[in-house]
Amino acid sequence: MDYVKLAKTLIPDEDLLPLEEYEKLYPERNMERGAEVTRLAPSPTGFIHLGNLYSALADERIAHTTGGIFYLRIEDTDLKRKVDGAVESVIRSLEYFGLNFDEGAEIDSPLNKYGPYYQRQRASIYRAYAKSLIERGLAYPCFCTEEELDKVREKQSANKEITGYYGVYAKCRNLTEEQIYKNLAEKKPFVIRLKSQGNAANKITFKDCIKGEITVTENDQDVVILKSDGIPTYHFAHAIDDHFMRTTLVIRGEEWLSSLPIHIELFSLLGFRLPKYGHTCSLMKMDGEIKRKLSKRKDPELSLDFYRKAGYYPTAVVKYLMTILNSNFEEWARKNPQKDYREFPFSISKMGRSGALFDIDKLNDVSKEELATLSAEETYDFLNSWVKEYGSDGDKVHFADKEYIIAVLNLVCGIGGKKRRKDIVRAESGVKMLDYFFDDTFSPNYCYRFGGETVNGVLEEFARLYDPADDNNAWFAKVKEVASEFGFAPEMSMYKADPQAYKGSVADVAEILRIAVCGMPNSPDLCTVMRILGKERSLNRLKSGKIAQ
Ligand code: GLU
Repeated sequence: MDYVKLAKTLIPDEDLLPLEEYEKLYPERNMERGAEVTRLAPSPTGFIHLGNLYSALADERIAHTTGGIFYLRIEDTDLKRKVDGAVESVIRSLEYFGLNFDEGAEIDSPLNKYGPYYQRQRASIYRAYAKSLIERGLAYPCFCTEEELDKVREKQSANKEITGYYGVYAKCRNLTEEQIYKNLAEKKPFVIRLKSQGNAANKITFKDCIKGEITVTENDQDVVILKSDGIPTYHFAHAIDDHFMRTTLVIRGEEWLSSLPIHIELFSLLGFRLPKYGHTCSLMKMDGEIKRKLSKRKDPELSLDFYRKAGYYPTAVVKYLMTILNSNFEEWARKNPQKDYREFPFSISKMGRSGALFDIDKLNDVSKEELATLSAEETYDFLNSWVKEYGSDGDKVHFADKEYIIAVLNLVCGIGGKKRRKDIVRAESGVKMLDYFFDDTFSPNYCYRFGGETVNGVLEEFARLYDPADDNNAWFAKVKEVASEFGFAPEMSMYKADPQAYKGSVADVAEILRIAVCGMPNSPDLCTVMRILGKERSLNRLKSGKIAQ
């Protein structure tokens, strides 16, 4: 068969360069020894998930701790799945979590010398290499229809054979020159398939940077490399792009492990050096007793938007992911509480080999701790940025009064006090926690444990005595005074010594006041809450907290 003529017929493009030119165009990167080039290569589907962030964090850490490059490539060969604005959304999402690309799609960088970074814009390079494989007799046109392929698959499944296009099933592999040209003359649509040189009886030992040594079966599938519209498949585009973008380490999900033999063969037939691979394990969660993969359909926490909307502090999410990625991170972070997580010596060899367990309770703990390291100003900035994006109009009005919010935060978080409180887990619930400091969002739950006469008496009397100029001691002395007046023990010790003699203790009186002022039985220091609310608002609350009789 005249393969050169066949290649020219199938791929008549005039604009393809001789292959050596592509090597010159995209030379080896001039980098220090040990520097790794990694990439994130998402499809622009608009759905960027925790698994992407998890992989991207490993990519980013490895590139940046070795002095390498982390770039963004968009795998947009499947137009059906393309969503407008998806690329910006990937970049913005990762940026939110503090991960920045050094080069790539939509990244403004002088380093962008290995593009274009959209696969759709790289058609000629894929076609040049497909043409060369045809010329060398290593690829061929396949005219099989979807129906024919379905039938073959059904037959293989019924015979319990491996499904796919290989061996005796690779019908078009052995078409004669005459048959091929006849099909072409009849304008039958065709794809280009690899003519695999492999043998499934052979095993290959492979060293995965995460999973360690694994044994895989040699590829014998004649996989499609160019689809009927001339667009490459993932397999082919991956080999060409990662070679010419000079990726040194491919980190990707373990779902790709089964196609690794195809990639090993493709790199070899194309004459490219195989990059290192690290296949990450899937993120799992406990569903009752069962450990299962996080699912797009069942688990909202898989979507990265979930963390932004819920207002997780980005560094907390990243630090939590670091604890799953590197088994020794948690201990390091405990020993180095002041250090930025970027100072941690990230190591691919410490990545887990099997199912990484994602535990949202643990994330909440990390988040609380992380937020408790912020100053009132920083906490305000973080909550305010969430409010601007996701808050209600009311929240926006509240947050416009920065001074007031800072005073509230100082109190609620115990900032500068003896004990730093760690109640804020994330912005959404944190902002909600402040609702009772504003009349329009104050929604009290008057859950008094005493009758109307006592409650109303206490509230009225305390309102009469209240003086905003009182310090904490004077304020508390008045609570005691009211306690005595209404049959409560003014000292806890008195109550404990003879509980029968009283309605309750001073703590119960404080609770009545707290319920009236804050709308709940728990709050930070009530005296300070009242001071922040101001005299008028405090007195109003004491009044409206009365039980209707
Ligand atoms: N586009 C592929 C994906 O989104 C990329 C896999 C890879 O990183 O090579 O799964």
